[in-house]
Amino acid sequence: MDVICEFCGGNLADATGCVLSEVELNDETYVRLTFGSHLDEEFWAKPCCWWWDPADRCGALIGEPHRRNCSKGSGIRRRPERCYDCRVAWGNLHHPDCGVEVCPRCSRQFASCSCEGDWPLPEGGWMPRGVL
Ligand SMILES: [Zn+2]
Ligand SMILES: [Zn+2]
Ligand SMILES: [Zn+2]
Ligand SMILES: [Zn+2]
Repeated sequence: MDVICEFCGGNLADATGCVLSEVELNDETYVRLTFGSHLDEEFWAKPCCWWWDPADRCGALIGEPHRRNCSKGSGIRRRPERCYDCRVAWGNLHHPDCGVEVCPRCSRQFASCSCEGDWPLPEGGWMPRGVL
């Protein structure tokens, strides 16, 4: 199934990155953070499954092997070449509404933070969750 981003017109299966580089948040203009920006680097520097209890998490760092039965993969843990949610390539802008993007204003998950943004998203969002 093809999913097309309304902003860049790219197909999420193979678009390199998005185009909307600035957003208005709480009446100020911010430059959006790319996939692979400083804050995303921090995300990937954390051990695999870091959000789980330390006893349950895989804990592999980049370049280390995943623990057996890790739900995130097998073999060596690598930084992904593409965003696992919106599929853009490392170093590029996420398509809007991506669950990985970090908010440039509050540094939380952009898709769920409470900054007041003016995203011209269609009703219900454009990304059918679960297909990717
Ligand atoms: Zn896009
Ligand atoms: Zn793992
Ligand atoms: Zn993304
Ligand atoms: Zn925010």
